[in-house]
Amino acid sequence: MQLSPIVQTLKPSATIAAAARAKELKSTGVMVYEFTLGEPDFTTPRHICDAAKQAMDDGATHYTPATGIPELKQAIANAYKADHGLEYGINQIAVSNGAKHSIHNVLTALCGPGDEVIIPTPYWVSYSALVELTGATPVLVETTEESGFCLAAEDLAEAISHRTRLLMLNNPCNPTGAAFPIETLEAIARVIVEKDILVLSDEIYEKLIYEGSSFKSFATFGDDVVERTVIVNGVSKAYAMTGWRIGWTLAPVELTAAITRLQSQQTSNPCSISQHAAIAALSGSQECLADMLARFAERREYVLQRLAKLPNISYVEPGGAFYAFFNVSQHFGRPLGGGKVVNNATEFCTALLEEAHVALVTGDAFGAPGYVRLSFATSMEILEAGFDRLEAFLTV
Ligand code: PMP
Ligand code: GLU
Repeated sequence: MQLSPIVQTLKPSATIAAAARAKELKSTGVMVYEFTLGEPDFTTPRHICDAAKQAMDDGATHYTPATGIPELKQAIANAYKADHGLEYGINQIAVSNGAKHSIHNVLTALCGPGDEVIIPTPYWVSYSALVELTGATPVLVETTEESGFCLAAEDLAEAISHRTRLLMLNNPCNPTGAAFPIETLEAIARVIVEKDILVLSDEIYEKLIYEGSSFKSFATFGDDVVERTVIVNGVSKAYAMTGWRIGWTLAPVELTAAITRLQSQQTSNPCSISQHAAIAALSGSQECLADMLARFAERREYVLQRLAKLPNISYVEPGGAFYAFFNVSQHFGRPLGGGKVVNNATEFCTALLEEAHVALVTGDAFGAPGYVRLSFATSMEILEAGFDRLEAFLTV
């Protein structure tokens, strides 16, 4: 079949593909230690599920306005006012089918052939693919372990050309866990204003910040920054609601209107029942957040202890999100557990899955050759057993 040129070269999401490979092996009866998907293992808190049931009983089972009901937009605006002191009107908010969809909307509304979008590496897998889908060109700017994987303002300034439309910034970052220091963010914000480009600030992990790190929304650096900022966020990570598919953008009115037109032609509204669940998440008790964060913090501590003992790897301690990202390139070109020799991170992940039944995601998918990502959004038991196997695989 003749597919469109843009889809012919489109790869599947590497995170989802890695999870599918692990599942396939599992289906053959093998116990697989799964660290692929960035998805909280907790069930969605009870009061959120109850709100969804109530919504169904109340008949909230019809189309809603294309970018969501006003009550949800108001709950989002209230949350940003309470959390960050930011004032957003509901005409600046568009709710979509998950933050991934929100990102797609923003890029589709802003970019086309000939445009450039700056993406610091390592980046979340879908960033470059979604830019390419618009016909625009991703311009990758490398960040390193030495800088804690934080984009330097000078490197950003250097990468900006007359074709640059926007910077895609993810803080805290998937896959590195980097939580940007406030001064670094502010320096980036100054470049954005000076060069007059836009920023897509993906803040979906904002609630998952560990001791010693802090978070500030990109839009808090002044009115001249707000008018150039599109915040992307959602309920997937903070409230363990990945399956409900609710994400949103906070953006200038004109862009929000464009996203609304786009979504009205494209998908119509996100699930009506999920919208009511999201209101309960944002407006109800936030105790569940603290509980889940405490569990993630325990797992992070454990992961750090285990990483410190793995031979010949390097890493930066994650300040946020739930990923450990480490460099395994010193293990390339020599026999590993099972006798396999691997030459890159993708081969490493394949051998690790086949030989030790441990599933990680290759750094190649995140624009970071030599690295692998481990999601610690899973139980302590799985982490313990998985690390035992990983350690044995590396200690030959
Ligand atoms: N941005 C980042 C950085 C992510 O890790 C994810 C998780 N898939 C998303 C956006 C999208 O989240 P969702 O579509 O589940 O809201
Ligand atoms: N964001 C998650 C991850 O990076 C979910 C999978 C996806 O949407 O790519 O694993």
